[in-house]
Amino acid sequence: MDKTNLTGLSREELAAYFESLGEKSFRAYQLFSWIHHHRVTSFDEMTNIPKTLRQKLKNNATLEQMITLSVNSSRQTQSRKFLFELSDGKTIESVYLPDDHRHTVCLSVQVGCGLNCKFCATGKMGFIRHLSTSEIVGQLITIQREVPFRITNVVLMGMGEPFLNYENVIKAAYLINDDYGFSISARKITISTAGIIPKIYQYADEGHKFNLAFSLNAADDTTRLNLMPINRKYPLEQCFRALEYYTQKSKRRVTLEYVLIAGVNDSNEDVRRLVKITNQLKCKLNVIPYNPIHVEDFKSPINKELNVFVQKVSVSKRIVMVRWSQGKDINGACGQLYAESNS
Ligand code: SAH
Repeated sequence: MDKTNLTGLSREELAAYFESLGEKSFRAYQLFSWIHHHRVTSFDEMTNIPKTLRQKLKNNATLEQMITLSVNSSRQTQSRKFLFELSDGKTIESVYLPDDHRHTVCLSVQVGCGLNCKFCATGKMGFIRHLSTSEIVGQLITIQREVPFRITNVVLMGMGEPFLNYENVIKAAYLINDDYGFSISARKITISTAGIIPKIYQYADEGHKFNLAFSLNAADDTTRLNLMPINRKYPLEQCFRALEYYTQKSKRRVTLEYVLIAGVNDSNEDVRRLVKITNQLKCKLNVIPYNPIHVEDFKSPINKELNVFVQKVSVSKRIVMVRWSQGKDINGACGQLYAESNS
């Protein structure tokens, strides 16, 4: 019989699991805390669980682990890029991004990605498979074991499209938020989507409290379609309607992400449209200078171009910020994640 993987189960599911073994359900709290808070790798380390029960768990269950194949540390910043091998030999990348106030981890949600955004390295891999909840949370558990600071923020913005792996991603966000585990507040967990409209409505209707980010990247359909093929299925106007529904329902603002590519989406016309969009939607805008991915002919804006663009867009009544990607020298910045799959 296959053993049950207990990493990735909620406390409620663990309680049901213990009951199915004929054990008391309060063990679920202990187990959850050993996995997510103490981050042990074996049942033997769970010292408040009786030896006989530990043996029973060893016979029936596992704690799935990922293998760290490599860690690349940036010389310029303290960021680190992790390459993990999953139980089927597939590989994914995650990034640890510390700064003065925050210790952020950027998690992957799929092996590869099917959306094929032109400026994104992961898009070049194509879609390989979804990650399980255990594999999403497993990245955070493994990274927290290896870095010296408590992780304070989580962004689901690594490889893949979160809203195409909706159930596993939402469940992972709740596990990360759980008081008995990492206890990272919902406001410090961000889920980013390229705009999978039905899921934006579902997310709004379900009333989740995690931050929602939308990868806008262009202020009109023609430009956006050239950059993001998903715009054919889910054009901008429909995205805005869904996002407005979300902001009204949640009473929260949405973060708009705008990857600035020189000569592609930085004209005065783009500025004008962007100001209009941001004024209409309850949002804040993050401008991210394009990080080169080598296979595409796009150019990053030079500092002056970036500053001029941001200054012009700042006539908007919304907050406009530049998000500087860290870890460019280790190909660990936004959109640079690409893991060669060996099987
Ligand atoms: N699929 C999701 C999450 C992954 S991409 C999404 O589209 O939101 C996370 C963010 O990185 C997106 O805002 C995306 O536009 C940005 N990004 C992708 N490639 C980039 C690159 N080469 N340079 C800068 N940002 C990039």
